[in-house]
Amino acid sequence: MQDVIRLLPDSLANQIAAGEVVQRPASVVKELLENSIDAGASQIQLIIKDAGKTLIQVIDDGIGMSETDARMSFERHATSKIRTQEDLFRIMTMGFRGEALASIAAVAQVEMRTRREIDDIGTQIIIEGSELKSQNKINCPKGTSIAVKNLFFNVPARRNFLKSNPIETKHIIEEFQRVALAFPEISFKMYHNEEEIYNLPKGKLAQRIVGIFGKNYREGLIPCQEDTPLLKIKGYIGKPELAKKTRGEQFFFVNNRFIKHAYLHHAVMTCYQDLLPKEHTPFYALFLEIEPQHIDINVHPTKTEIKFDDEKTIYAILQATVRKALASVQNNLDFEEKSFDLADAYTPTSKTSQDFSYKPQNLSNQNFSSFWKTNYREKSNLRNWESIFAGLKSQAIQVFEQEKSDLFPQETSTESTNTLPKEYENPETKTFQLHQRYIVTQIKAGLLIIDQHLAHQRILYDRFLQLLQNQGLGRVSQQLLFPIQIPLNPADLALLQDITQEITHLGFNFELTPEGMILYGTPPQLPHEQEKEIVESFIEQLKHSAEISLIPSHEKIARLMAQRSALRYGTKLSSAEIQTLLAQLFASSNPNYSPNGEPTMILIDMVKIGEWFASGLH
Ligand code: ADP
Ligand code: MG
Repeated sequence: MQDVIRLLPDSLANQIAAGEVVQRPASVVKELLENSIDAGASQIQLIIKDAGKTLIQVIDDGIGMSETDARMSFERHATSKIRTQEDLFRIMTMGFRGEALASIAAVAQVEMRTRREIDDIGTQIIIEGSELKSQNKINCPKGTSIAVKNLFFNVPARRNFLKSNPIETKHIIEEFQRVALAFPEISFKMYHNEEEIYNLPKGKLAQRIVGIFGKNYREGLIPCQEDTPLLKIKGYIGKPELAKKTRGEQFFFVNNRFIKHAYLHHAVMTCYQDLLPKEHTPFYALFLEIEPQHIDINVHPTKTEIKFDDEKTIYAILQATVRKALASVQNNLDFEEKSFDLADAYTPTSKTSQDFSYKPQNLSNQNFSSFWKTNYREKSNLRNWESIFAGLKSQAIQVFEQEKSDLFPQETSTESTNTLPKEYENPETKTFQLHQRYIVTQIKAGLLIIDQHLAHQRILYDRFLQLLQNQGLGRVSQQLLFPIQIPLNPADLALLQDITQEITHLGFNFELTPEGMILYGTPPQLPHEQEKEIVESFIEQLKHSAEISLIPSHEKIARLMAQRSALRYGTKLSSAEIQTLLAQLFASSNPNYSPNGEPTMILIDMVKIGEWFASGLH
């Protein structure tokens, strides 16, 4: 027998490794910008075409590379930045794994031009899919230019997987902003499709913030500064007026490296308590400096998480610092200035300003039929379904309309008359539930069998999507008798914080604390007593989908929620409930399919039935 184990060819190994480092154009931007910074550049230009799908180029005036180094830089684990294991714990450069260029070159067509100051002539290297195409001496300015063309040209699956240009551009701009914020002493320019997006001259941090976010930030920044033996903090927080509903202008840097940290975010948020309009998040760009031995940087290149060995103290110092800064400008708002006392400063207050006003709707009767109450405002598009639905008992529509008017008394009957044309009413129609799984009903064409779980998924999906797109509409939440505690780790919390608004719009009433979520109310559609389970599995699923695209789309959130909360098999339905379900299904955007594309129903037509019997239709 022959041996079967072989070493992977380098190009393939690089391509596999690239999957980790290079997820999208923005990851290339991050790696290239960081390399330029590590190279001591004082001017960096980023040039993008087609959201980075066609071209990502970074030009710097840094130290450049010798001819040998230029070639070496594309080898995996080739780095000039660490030599020993101890170095790993004292990392002060942005990169250190020596993986980025090798990974990028494995999945793109790369042209590098580089020259050191001491050299008269520079080096040009062209490498495509890990394959060296050419290496030449050329004239070029001091520094390095790396052009990455046609990302994923040789991995079509990944290329197809890229999001739309606006989304990829947004990710690129986010990376650019993070780097540009952290290095105000370096001048940055960014062009997209030949258009200048940013021109940021070198300057102070405040100027950089104004350069990135706009002139109205000039008056809105409050400086923060604190020096303790453990931790130094400097940077700016925004006055409450700068706070926005959309998130994305919250920046923590630890030793100049951008991080996300839900727990520390919470520390800042507690300081703004009662100062912000509902659901607003303040601007902040805070730089924490701490001895590297007190932190554990996740060495995964794409992760922005970090662990501190003494998180609570850091929370306390940060909170006290922000509080003090805010107090300095907010004295008119009876804001008590806390003395800087660690023991005192660390009061893990449970409220965050992400609380929203909860107006209890009169929905406390948690009997089963309230479970069915969804409050559609959209005009039903039932008419498209006339042909298939011809013959369904009109009572269903009445129940549906009745429930709708229960919830929205002011806007009743105008729609109800044209929901189901008269000629289709057939008082004879019977429906029944088969083994508590399927709804069987008679229509003109034959026998319709509907999957109750999938049908309900479609109904809920429409409903949730509508809520998300219309910012929650009137936001109906069903208050729980007892709040439910759902413990969450910081990573999950961070994810949830990113989509707090969306979850709120769905009808959840909750609060995030450093320990997790406290749930006060849920969308009225959720099956009673399964709230915790549903929320937990919803978060779990979100996490998985969030790894692929950082911000889950409204469609995705609605789909996951619908999947989680749809009526289970084995649930017995009364005939009124069946009618409501059917009415809502046929009023939905696509009654035939669940949000995941599974058929919700099958029709056994009369002809088919006839064929089964010798008699046929005669
Ligand atoms: P890392 O940054 O982790 O060391 P990279 O693959 O990003 O790994 O880069 C490999 C090496 O190439 C770096 O260590 C550095 O020596 C060199 N290099 C990359 N980009 C530049 C640049 N813009 N200017 C100078 N040297 C660079
Ligand atoms: Mg690097």
